[in-house]
Amino acid sequence: MIDIIILNRNLRLLDNAALFYGSLRSNYIVIYLHDKEYWKSNGRSLRQLKFATECLNELDQDLKKINSEINVFDGSFEMLKDWIEKNYNDYFIHMNHCTDTNYFRLGFENFKNHFGRRLRIYDDFGLQLSNFDRDSWSKNWNHIMSADLLGAPKYSNNDDNLNLKKIKFFEDMFVDESYKLRDIQKGGTSFANQLLESFLTERCEDYRVKMSSPSQSKESCSRLSPHFTYGSISIRQVYQKLNKTVHSLNHKQDLYSFKKRLYWHCHFVQKLHTEPELEFYSMHRMCDSLRTEHDDEMISKWISGETGFPFLDACMKYLDRYGWINFRMRAMIMSFASYNLWQPWQKTSPLLAQLFTDYEPGIHISQVQMQSGVTGINLPRIYSVPKQSMDQDPDSSWTKNILPQLDNIDPKLIHNAELNGTYIDKIVDLKASAKFARENIWAIRKSNKFKNEARQVYLKHGSRRKRKIKPN
Ligand SMILES: Cc1cc2nc3c(=O)[nH]c(=O)nc-3n(C[C@H](O)[C@H](O)[C@H](O)COP(=O)(O)OP(=O)(O)OC[C@H]3O[C@@H](n4cnc5c(N)ncnc54)[C@H](O)[C@@H]3O)c2cc1C
Repeated sequence: MIDIIILNRNLRLLDNAALFYGSLRSNYIVIYLHDKEYWKSNGRSLRQLKFATECLNELDQDLKKINSEINVFDGSFEMLKDWIEKNYNDYFIHMNHCTDTNYFRLGFENFKNHFGRRLRIYDDFGLQLSNFDRDSWSKNWNHIMSADLLGAPKYSNNDDNLNLKKIKFFEDMFVDESYKLRDIQKGGTSFANQLLESFLTERCEDYRVKMSSPSQSKESCSRLSPHFTYGSISIRQVYQKLNKTVHSLNHKQDLYSFKKRLYWHCHFVQKLHTEPELEFYSMHRMCDSLRTEHDDEMISKWISGETGFPFLDACMKYLDRYGWINFRMRAMIMSFASYNLWQPWQKTSPLLAQLFTDYEPGIHISQVQMQSGVTGINLPRIYSVPKQSMDQDPDSSWTKNILPQLDNIDPKLIHNAELNGTYIDKIVDLKASAKFARENIWAIRKSNKFKNEARQVYLKHGSRRKRKIKPN
């Protein structure tokens, strides 16, 4: 009997259920499924793959210390299924659950259905995979987060040569793009641990205030998001470390805000797990009739930071370079596309996701929908670009750093994008477009039909936790 452990987005040695349980008999192999088509699917991009391979590299080194290693299976779930059947008779397969978009989900579902009881799926992210019940969700989450962490996998006695690719397979994949990807975060558990340590002990000071500033948030946010996405650290490891040390740490209110966000992470991922159709349809289906047409040129100017609004353009260019930007700027970017440009989120969401190293479909798609006013359960909020520019970058120094052509221009003109001829022309009139958006969004929200459906959305997806502080 051999145990086949298949890795997807849980790329760490510790607190990894598939690795831990799959290794108990000490006769196991570890396979990473690399499917080219997956990396071309909704929102995926090379920067994310690069981060994932860095996590894989470190995990491979760790596994070698216990006489194991990562084998790369270059193909789809379907091909992996055939390979397993051809090569093994007596086996168990171990995988961690992963909530992802349609391409992955369909492949994973067929794989699960095919192997049935030979496949063991382990829970992840504190989700309710079956018996979903929003009323008990919070309690269940606390229970999962407080359970004992799983230790290292056992030493492997399996020396089979599998004839599969090794981790070197990824080595040359990023050479052509290395300059473009130079400032993207680095993957791997040791980076995740360093970030956690420095955040808890120093960087969290004034987290609640600094998290909204594009210049300060780079340092003062935890920056753990891509590590959660690729599992180089588990939410539970972070949650427990925080609980264990918080009494001796400073800035407790800041850390409390951080802790709430760990909960939000899973709360959002649960939405996509419960309703995978959210990848394609608005949470409140009536909202899909709002924006029925799109404009490729507008979308292209938005995503490449050529809208004529310097603060917004700077955010886009920053995001493109670093693969990350803070929550507030993400919300503003999305609000601009959905309200001011009136573009359907289904067109803009994957393009934005491609820029995020931390692209987590459950969070991304739910947040995109929230910032587009299509959930039915959140009040629509239109972010004003001039206001954010004034509040978050009053002297425009951050914007000027990214757009040096504006160096000698008065910040006030930059905030309001009044740059007659010295910068790109504005692609939209902010006031008129916001008015149009408000009227259309509120018109649809008035009917009883809308309210009744919104109630159903709340029952399915709404948080039952009382909010003590506002989201960032
Ligand atoms: C349009 C839009 C798209 C987004 N897409 C993603 C995405 O693809 N992946 C992603 O991880 N986050 C996404 N977010 C949420 C948030 O912006 C990021 O989680 C955060 O900026 C990551 O930086 P950090 O790890 O330093 O966060 P911290 O502030 O240090 O927070 C710690 C962790 O809490 C979780 N978290 C924080 N804020 C939120 C939130 N509002 N909702 C859910 N979980 C949260 C994340 O896991 C984060 O890593 C999106 C937000 C918006 C508005």
